[in-house]
Amino acid sequence: MGLDETQDDLAARAETAPETLTDGFHLLIDALKLNGVETIYNVPGIPITDLGRYAQAQGMRVISFRHEQHAGYAAAAAGFLTKKPGVCMTVSAPGFLNGLTALAHATTNCWPMILISGSSEREVVDLQRGDYEEMDQLAIARPHAKAAYRILEAKDIGLGVARAVRAALTGRPGGVYLDVPGALLGQVMDAVEGQKSLIEVVDPNPKSVPAPEAVARAVDVLSKAEKPLIIIGKGAAYAQCDDLVRNLVETLGFPYLPMSMAKGLLPDTHPQCASAARSLVLKESDCVFLIGARLNWLLSHGEGKAWGEKGAKSFVQIDIEPTEMDSNQKISAPLIGDIESCAGALLEAIGSDWKKPPEEWTGAVSAKVQANVERMAPKLRNNNSPMDYQGSLGVLKDLIAENPDVVLVNEGANALDQARSIIDIHKPRKRLDVGTWGIMGIGMGSAIAAAIETGNQVLAVEGDSAFGFCGMEIETVCRYNLPVCIVIMNNNGIYRGDGENWGGGDDPSTTVFVKDARYDLMMQAFGGEGRHVDNPDALRAAVKEAFASGKPTLINAVIAEGAGRESGNIGNLNPSSVVAQARYPQAKKI
Ligand code: ADP
Repeated sequence: MGLDETQDDLAARAETAPETLTDGFHLLIDALKLNGVETIYNVPGIPITDLGRYAQAQGMRVISFRHEQHAGYAAAAAGFLTKKPGVCMTVSAPGFLNGLTALAHATTNCWPMILISGSSEREVVDLQRGDYEEMDQLAIARPHAKAAYRILEAKDIGLGVARAVRAALTGRPGGVYLDVPGALLGQVMDAVEGQKSLIEVVDPNPKSVPAPEAVARAVDVLSKAEKPLIIIGKGAAYAQCDDLVRNLVETLGFPYLPMSMAKGLLPDTHPQCASAARSLVLKESDCVFLIGARLNWLLSHGEGKAWGEKGAKSFVQIDIEPTEMDSNQKISAPLIGDIESCAGALLEAIGSDWKKPPEEWTGAVSAKVQANVERMAPKLRNNNSPMDYQGSLGVLKDLIAENPDVVLVNEGANALDQARSIIDIHKPRKRLDVGTWGIMGIGMGSAIAAAIETGNQVLAVEGDSAFGFCGMEIETVCRYNLPVCIVIMNNNGIYRGDGENWGGGDDPSTTVFVKDARYDLMMQAFGGEGRHVDNPDALRAAVKEAFASGKPTLINAVIAEGAGRESGNIGNLNPSSVVAQARYPQAKKI
């Protein structure tokens, strides 16, 4: 008995002794469980409906969504939060494509995720015979994933899952695609042989220790800085060595800027935090130390007006990915390795007699921070109705300070930019947002993952436009009775709600929505709590109530129609032309 038995032999055995057999469904579940996967984010359908049922029967948490994109975003967020691959499961072709956006998002953000999609039979797909949902999914996934594999035989499931887990986690994390043809799931094999074929990945997150000469070089460059700055990115939040990073930042004594999802790694209220003096520190610093942050578009590639004189800065960078170095600017001291190993080695090399940066620099940064915080404070206390961003987000800032374990999910244009700068985060990995691509629609998937993975209360601050990309998932929030409070910053449109049709026709402007829409009533339709508020005091009361009850809640927060800027803080990325400016007088006003 064993591997030489045909499927017919096994079918005969199934008649008399089914308990001695296993199948593709169960091997896949066993392989995932063996590698620590406890939760699957999925949308059921052919050929994976039973896979979800069996996984649930085998004790896994299977969260069913309404659309694969959001199941995928949940898996991506789970990967960031847990440092383990988040798993999303979809049906073939259209479901796979829906999930693919999230896989690409995970890869772009360097988060571990595995997208498992059912697929049609290779023999039919490859001859393009027109199968049900025919698509060469493996080929399509490849450019969007860190790795992509197809499993054709039940005996290889252990291998396929092990390869996926290791690829997702090792080195720079990323998204992995696992193609699972329907027929594989039904394949039967001997249970003992099946068990033996599974692989528990050993050390999927191996240490990557920097070379001593690289550490010495970094210490040398850092020690010569007169006006140093640290930029902490979400790679450092992902690395989960929070105390070490804090120790390093405090020992060096440099001002630091957290990138949006690194907020809270050190509390935003920390005396070295320079967020409120961002322009000053980017422009004036002479040495920038990047910890798990890329010099990509989010940092204007380390050049341009915001960065001051070209070539006046030296850069030191910690990253696990060697090819990240010099991708935008010359890196004078690359530290290639994992953040824990690099931070530990640096601290050791620095020793106890480290000279902190000149008071002239740190004092100037602190003074600027204080002045800007004081200037902003009264704006955050206004009680205008309808609300503006400052008054409404000022309330949420207070509530997050009072409840620092709440996970803040945030997306939109103005709702994102304003919340990112106004709402302080006090603990690591308590902020999930649109990530490296600036995707709209991550909100509900991220909120659901945050609630499932952490068990904490979630507050999702959503632009009304961003919410539209994922709003149907409030049914999922209600179905699983998750402690998610969603605040829709409703200004009746994309960017703002007062746009006009420049052609003068009857159709609404391309950027406006139905006026005074009641998103709270959508929530009530699914049995959740719906609230409608138009002033900061009412918003405070509604969010407090939601936090106290832990019930799924949606608060429709009415923001003034004219509040908000075109494209938030990144309007400069919109192309413009002199022709258009001359043709449409309205264009000048934006
Ligand atoms: P942000 O958008 O916050 O600036 P990025 O996503 O641009 O952050 O950068 C994160 C970086 O962190 C990536 O270049 C990635 O390779 C790196 N990274 C991720 N995990 C680790 C780790 N454990 N150790 C070192 N670098 C890491």
